Amino acid sequence: MKFNLEVIRKDFPILKRKINGYPLAYLDNAASSQRPLLVIDAEKNFYKHNYAAVHRGIHTLSTNATSYMENIRNQVANFINASYSNEIIFVKSTTEGINLIANTWGISNLNSDHNLIITEMEHHSNIVPWQIIAKRVGVEIRVLPINKDGKLCLKALVKLIDKNTRLLAITHVSNVLGIINPIKDIITYAKAAGVVTVVDGAQAIMHNKIDVQDIGCDFYVFSGHKMYGPTGIGILYGRKSILNEMPPWEGGGSMINDVILPNGTTWNNIPWRFEAGTPNIIGIIGLGAALSYIQNLGLNVINQRESDLVCYAYKKLSSISNIVIYSPINNTGIISFNLGQHHAFDVGSFLDKYGIAIRTGHHCAIPLMRHYNVTSMCRVSLSFYNSEDEIDRLVSSLIRINHLFNNQKTLLER
Ligand code: PLP
Repeated sequence: MKFNLEVIRKDFPILKRKINGYPLAYLDNAASSQRPLLVIDAEKNFYKHNYAAVHRGIHTLSTNATSYMENIRNQVANFINASYSNEIIFVKSTTEGINLIANTWGISNLNSDHNLIITEMEHHSNIVPWQIIAKRVGVEIRVLPINKDGKLCLKALVKLIDKNTRLLAITHVSNVLGIINPIKDIITYAKAAGVVTVVDGAQAIMHNKIDVQDIGCDFYVFSGHKMYGPTGIGILYGRKSILNEMPPWEGGGSMINDVILPNGTTWNNIPWRFEAGTPNIIGIIGLGAALSYIQNLGLNVINQRESDLVCYAYKKLSSISNIVIYSPINNTGIISFNLGQHHAFDVGSFLDKYGIAIRTGHHCAIPLMRHYNVTSMCRVSLSFYNSEDEIDRLVSSLIRINHLFNNQKTLLER
């Protein structure tokens, strides 16, 4: 499909909004992207014409809703090239997916004889669940550091993995630096050492084609709301052979085979064993529409457009005298920076006055902030629907911040 920015932007009604009297420049897509009409309409139409509880009913609406849901499971499996659709578990988010792994596989496979490896660039959602489990079962946590250039120190991995290493939990793309880790090589190395692998795909899934069989990981997790879909829905992919061995996490409806009193209940097959209770049906419907939107546009088209935008933004931002850019050039849309001594919150608030939305703070990656010896950063995260004009507005506003603050300083010094 040929990329036409004007046409594409019409798919996203929110992009027409004004904020504080200025056209919205939404540059916070890594936090959560915006939704196209296809997704909004799919949800609205489902509520209007097709809504019913899934899995339990014999009536038409219920059986149809169940088919919609299970078809979307197939769609997700195809999207990431999973071998079987029962390797796809609907969860609330990336965070919930990782907590599920930690609380099922983790609890039953880790103990104080073992160690697990995470990295210094993880989002808190791929750190804290492991710390909670470590406190419970006594497993040691080892941390793979990053180099000066922000890339993972792969030589250190060779030293960290030993005969007691059971798990490697690693992000595919850093939400702060935008770096794509050489995930296939890392997974291949870990697998050869018999280590179970969890990949946090929250910042990767919307930019590049993901093929879980090619990557070779045991688990891959991502969230709908970062890929133009709804909040409250995410995917946990798990290799069938591992999922089959895992005990359930949450108990309730749908996850049982038989309930026998006082305590003889048996579990359902995968994936339903891990989907207790009424699922987020509307979120699943919206996710299916989001996948269709991405597929119609084409991940190669998306990737090319986002690479072009990052190059454009990187060049313009680099020309600002006192900017410190932490991200290397990448095709994941992410550029994190600080502007001289100006606090990220001041920069973010100023930009907001002009309708420009960026992310400021620790980005749920405090260990990474510590690595760079800062408490916060500004992060611009671009999506294919952003324009060069929005980047120009960002850059001229950052330059204006410098002028304003410098003038203020001069006044104070007089
Ligand atoms: N992992 C990474 C790399 C992220 O960027 C995020 C969210 O920003 C998450 C995990 C958590 O995603 P969610 O809040 O959707 O669970």
